[in-house]
Amino acid sequence: MPADEAESYLIEAVQRGEPQAWQEVIERYQGRLVSFARRMLAERSEAEDLVQETFLGFLRSLPRYDASRSLETYLFAILRNKLSDHVRRRYAGQRQSLDQLELDEAPEAWVDEDTPSRHVGAQEMLAAQRQALVHCLRQWVEQCTEQGRLQDLIVIEMLVVLGLRNKEVATDLDLTEPAVAGIKFRVLEQWRRLTQAASGVPECAEGDLAAESSVGRIWREEGISCLKRSTLGRYLLGALDDDWEQYIDFHVRQADCDRCNANLEDLRAGDERDETARQKLRERCFASSVGFLSRAPT
Ligand SMILES: [Zn+2]
Repeated sequence: MPADEAESYLIEAVQRGEPQAWQEVIERYQGRLVSFARRMLAERSEAEDLVQETFLGFLRSLPRYDASRSLETYLFAILRNKLSDHVRRRYAGQRQSLDQLELDEAPEAWVDEDTPSRHVGAQEMLAAQRQALVHCLRQWVEQCTEQGRLQDLIVIEMLVVLGLRNKEVATDLDLTEPAVAGIKFRVLEQWRRLTQAASGVPECAEGDLAAESSVGRIWREEGISCLKRSTLGRYLLGALDDDWEQYIDFHVRQADCDRCNANLEDLRAGDERDETARQKLRERCFASSVGFLSRAPT
């Protein structure tokens, strides 16, 4: 069974209220979620509390689950919101800490506590447009990887995720500035072709290659260029081609992707994990959320 199919099957079982399926979801995702939270919180217990809330939040938002997003994207997005709120509460008034989280949205724009896409302001793209754009961007990443255009991917990520300027990208990659401009031009053309073929997506313009654009924000929130866990596993084993290894090095080190780093840490922990602690957390997450499971619509 392909991974996507297995996942839809699992989510459908959770939607039907099957406790075993829910337990499976917790088992599968708790490790990477705890690693993700611990990148920001030193205390393991604090991280575990937020992971517990994340699973609960997932069940509460299940009726609005958007099947076009992967379960991992969805869970990380909920956890990211919980982390922002947690740190915001704790460091209220300490602007510096908030800056580290790149909290650029006003709290009043956040409408629904457990829906990951709440960060998109009302005046911004409608949910359907966003979804269509996400689809186009993922398509583009897929084309890049299939055709081995990994350097294009690095350039775009430097622009939209790291917010670097052409000159900085050029210096970093040992390219000329016109070469970077050429890649941008080519990529925008490719995006235009993809968005024109899809309905209801606004056309991409030069400004969409900036970190503060909707594309930039969506790219980060949706983990557009994030690696599959199986690919990260092969990366750890050193079993990938040089260009892939170079790309992942960039993505996890320079771009410091929190999501892929969380997966890597969880994978590295591997067999050395404390099984008792894992089991305890799983039971705790399950016990606190199972009541919402039975209330899920059938
Ligand atoms: Zn990533």
